[in-house]
Parts: sequence; C-alpha cells; structure tokens
Amino acid sequence: NGLPSTLSDIDPSRLTITLASTLKTLPEPESLVFGEVTTDHMLYMDFSPERGWSQPQIMPYGPLNLDPASSCFQYCPNVFEGLKAYLALDGTPRLFRPQLNMDRMVISAERVALPPFNADALLTLIKRFVALEARWIPRVRGCSLYIRPTLIGTRASLGVTASTHAALYVVLSPTGPYIRNSEGKGISLLAMSDQVRAWPGGTGGYKLGLNYAPGFVAQRKAAALGYQQLLWLLGETVSEAGAMNVFAVFKRPDGELDVVTPPLDGTILPGVTRASVLSLLSYRPHITALPQLPTDVRINVSERVLTMSELFAASTADTLQEFFCVGTAAVVIPARRIGWQRSSADSSDVEDIRLPVVGGQGSLAQALWERLVDIQEGRVEWEGWGVT
Ligand code: PMP
Repeated sequence: NGLPSTLSDIDPSRLTITLASTLKTLPEPESLVFGEVTTDHMLYMDFSPERGWSQPQIMPYGPLNLDPASSCFQYCPNVFEGLKAYLALDGTPRLFRPQLNMDRMVISAERVALPPFNADALLTLIKRFVALEARWIPRVRGCSLYIRPTLIGTRASLGVTASTHAALYVVLSPTGPYIRNSEGKGISLLAMSDQVRAWPGGTGGYKLGLNYAPGFVAQRKAAALGYQQLLWLLGETVSEAGAMNVFAVFKRPDGELDVVTPPLDGTILPGVTRASVLSLLSYRPHITALPQLPTDVRINVSERVLTMSELFAASTADTLQEFFCVGTAAVVIPARRIGWQRSSADSSDVEDIRLPVVGGQGSLAQALWERLVDIQEGRVEWEGWGVT
C-alpha cells in the first residue's frame, strides 16, 4: 500500500481495550438527531514517520490532545468516511459494503498526502469496535449506528507542507433518518449558479473535510428561500445534492424508463449508495433485483451529463418522472421540487420544477429504498454486500 516496509502498518492483533468506567444512557430512537450523540468509546491510533502506525486502542470516548499548530487546524489535511451498522433480525450487527468505504478512505488520504494504511486492518478493527458497542444500534427499521472514521494531519508546525504525522480515529453515533422526508412527501432542492462545490482537477471526488465548509453559506441561503438541500451545479451541469448523489428518471413514449446519474468525472463523490443503485438497476429486467416494481417496466441506465435545461425541458414535456438523492445517511430520498436560481443578483428569481412522482408505491425511489434497507438489515442476502 505504499507504506515503507520499515514502518509498522495498522495491526489489529495489537489492539488494546480500555473500557469506560460508567456507561451512558441509551437515547430513545425517536429522539435521535443525526450525529448529536456518540457512544461510550472510540477507536484510536496514530502515525509517526519514525515508527509508522501505533498500536490501535479502543478507549473511553473523550477529547483528543493536539498541538494548536497541528496541520489539521491550519491547512485541512482531513479525511473522513461515513458508513452504518445495522441490526439483523437475529440481533447480529451488519455493515453494508464497508470495504468500499475503507478503499475510498485510503484514496482520499493520498489526495492530501496523509500516510497510507492497510484498509483490511482498519475494517477488522471497526468490526471489533462495532461488536463492542452493539447495544447502541437502534432496534428500529431505518435506524442504525453511524460509523465515522476520521484521519487528520497532526504535524505540529505552521510550515505549509504535507503532514508527516497523523491520527486516525473512529467514533460511532446512533442515528435515525438523516433528513426528515416529511410525511413521505420528498425533499426540496435548490440549484444555485453562483457557488460551486467542485471543479475539474479539484477535490470533489474525494471525501475531504475541506469540501464541506464552503457549502454552509449556500446551504443557509437555500434554507432561507425554503429549500432543504442544495443541488450543486458546475455551470449548468448537475453534480450532486448536499452529501448525496442524484438520479433523474425519464419516461419514454413506449413506457421504458431512462435512469440517469452524472458520471464520475472527479467532481462528484463516488458514493457507495450510487454504485449500489447502479448495480441493482443493471439487473433489471433480467432478474427481480427490484421486486416492488412491475416486471414489464424496462429500465435503461446511463452515467452521463445531466443539465438543468434538460430537466426543465423534460419537466415541460412531461417526461421527467422522478428525481432522487442517494447516500449512506438518507439511503434513497425523492425530491418533490427543484428550484433553479439562474442569477445570483436576484434571489427572488427562482424557477421551480415539480416532480410528478415523489416516492410511494410503484416509484423507483421507493423500490430502491426498500431493497437497499432489506439488504442492509439482512432480510435479503445480495452479492455479499452485507458483512456481519
Ligand atoms: N456526495 C457527497 C458529497 C457525500 O458527502 C456523500 C456521503 N458520503 C455522498 C455523495 C454519498 O456517498 P455514500 O453513498 O458513499 O454515502
């Protein structure tokens, strides 16, 4: 993996566990707000250029002790991941395609010159950690334990250069629905033209902390105009929505569906959910990957450029059926309306598309949500995606 052989890699056999002396009270699943509550412990290890990766430790959850000059506070060599542990019917914790998150984390680390590590070893440790904290996985459909691996540069120097030192830690947070899909009516998205999230040659295709803070002001503006999430554009081209990838569904005159998602051109995050949705759709119509849909609905899938003008034209022509967002946090969530603010000068100048199909029986969004949650929670075994 690029780590010099003289340095030690992450070694799960050296794990030490120090348990918390008092345990927290479990929250009611209904009261959960995404990311607000953390569990009793954290998993921690660090990297130095002299010895490599330290012995991993599971220890009581608590503050990190970092030098104020640490790179992570100055130049943001910060990488993170997000995956979830679900509870199977028999009470076994399950992860969903976790290897993809581990691999993505290694790739993100490389983009900001943080040290490499053995992705399998980190996954082994995360499994141990989740097993130890299994009481925190809510026993409610659609709820889960969110896993947040984080890698930060800890070089204690103001020099503008790659961080020689790093810390890798994992915290866990019990979670309900990420975005309230109020009464199943879908979410509202606002596409703005004056701010972009990513650009060719930039970092949009990596899971880096630095991609997110610049979106907060735009998110606030969208909220002030009555929209729940941003739909990021590059020029007129659709990229992704908030922290989710997007899919548009068009209906052909003969009833066949065209399902389109923007291509992985380096400006959008290669989502695990996106890859899983593409994979499930590619099985249609040969086998019943999506049994909730009528078998005679033919689905054509493509990864290609999608523009706002195309969406507006299709909406006017009544061929745009659905638009939905996918990601670990929300799984699949349909949009009910998409606003487009073509010019930043006039914030009242927002045109809306209304989607005719917003989740519900017979919709692609609902069929995909049900199938993915079935696989995540172990009701359906599929392609080895569920890992105990
Ligand atoms: N795009 C962005 C910008 C994200 O932060 C996320 C969440 N990781 C996604 C898309 C969805 O990716 P995934 O399906 O792997 O959660």
